[in-house]
Amino acid sequence: DPEATEFVLHEARENDVKFIRLWFADILGNLKGFAITVEELEHSLTRGMGFDGSSIEGFVRSDERDMYALPDPNTFNLLPWRPRENAVARMFCDILTPDDESHESDPRAVLRRNLSNASKLGYTYYVGPEIEYFYFKDSKGTSTDGRGSYFGQDATDLATDLRRQTVLTLEELGIPVESSHQEAAPSQHEIDLRHTDALTMADTVMTYRLVVKEIARQNGYYATFMPKPINGVNGSGMHMHQSLYQGDRNAFYDDDDPQHLSDTAKFFIAGLLKHAREITAVTNQWVNSYKRLVPQFEAPTYVTWSTVNRADLIRVPDFKPGREESRRIEFRSPDPACNPYLAFSVMLAAGLKGIENRYEFPPAAQSNALYMSQAERDELGIEALPANLWEAIQISERSELVHDSLGEPVFKSFIENKKIEWENYHSRVADYETEHYLPVL
Ligand code: GLU
Ligand code: MG
Ligand code: MG
Repeated sequence: DPEATEFVLHEARENDVKFIRLWFADILGNLKGFAITVEELEHSLTRGMGFDGSSIEGFVRSDERDMYALPDPNTFNLLPWRPRENAVARMFCDILTPDDESHESDPRAVLRRNLSNASKLGYTYYVGPEIEYFYFKDSKGTSTDGRGSYFGQDATDLATDLRRQTVLTLEELGIPVESSHQEAAPSQHEIDLRHTDALTMADTVMTYRLVVKEIARQNGYYATFMPKPINGVNGSGMHMHQSLYQGDRNAFYDDDDPQHLSDTAKFFIAGLLKHAREITAVTNQWVNSYKRLVPQFEAPTYVTWSTVNRADLIRVPDFKPGREESRRIEFRSPDPACNPYLAFSVMLAAGLKGIENRYEFPPAAQSNALYMSQAERDELGIEALPANLWEAIQISERSELVHDSLGEPVFKSFIENKKIEWENYHSRVADYETEHYLPVL
């Protein structure tokens, strides 16, 4: 697209850009990249820049392989915290092979493929995340002594300033923020982004994590998206609000339905519920993710839906008259340490499967599944989310949906990565064991 290229070159000149960081995500959702000088920009926009493509493989890096990073001109933005003179910009890239094919392990390509499946059915997939995180004094988890309370408005809390700077920086990067607040745990915060199409949002989540960490660092603090950093208080989730549009019509809205939910929305919910256990390894990919998905900390534990904020996996917000465009569902299991490209891919695939196969829409959970007996849950067919990473991996590994939505190469590499992680974890003796067993056994 010569026009987009011209725009980027113009912006770079106008803003005295010297360096352009070419960004991509590895299989595990780590932000990777390298910087080029502005002299290489025009060339890179048309031909891509060569680099060692094995950096995309997570823990299972193989031999060095030459790949090309092709910057997406829609993602050109200045990094506001870098100098204004000889400024620094960033662009997200698609990763190509030397033959200009898309690199089989590029998570962005995986999401693009799933989005094109949706668009073949006439849908655009919109997502809006609520991203939670903690501030600490350092990466060892030293407490900030943050006194905040849920939605607290304590003017002396330094986190208020960190959050303010973060929101302003996100907006400078062209990322619209809807709201932000102190979350339930001490020093836990949340910033909610205005919904966008899923590819834009996956890039945005990558940027968001960097910005939150960068602003904390500049102020001498450490921010983390670790799903459950502290025992005994809430962990950090990334609730995902989702809807499908057909053109500019919200396909989740139906005027005639008592809940104003269309059949499309109901099938989509049914798909997410049916495949929830299979996709959990992707939406909750770390050993630590499962320390969050436990009762009593406002995180989901059972595969149910309802209209209230409980242990249910999916919440359908009440309909507000006149707000057809915001009819949506909220999927509550993902955590902010997932790979957003892969997580959005499997969520979308699950929802679309529900639509294509017209899955039966189960009734809303009448009461909190947490307080039912196992017999009652069995009776109602209520399943639990996987209890740990190993259970999640085993279910995912057998899932046709996860296999097909990630594609064979990413599927294989992802499962292999996760098995390495589980292996590293489960063969170690934990503090819990030395504390509880050594003194008595
Ligand atoms: N922190 C909770 C979680 O782990 C969510 C709290 C909320 O409802 O915002 O999902
Ligand atoms: Mg929250
Ligand atoms: Mg929520």
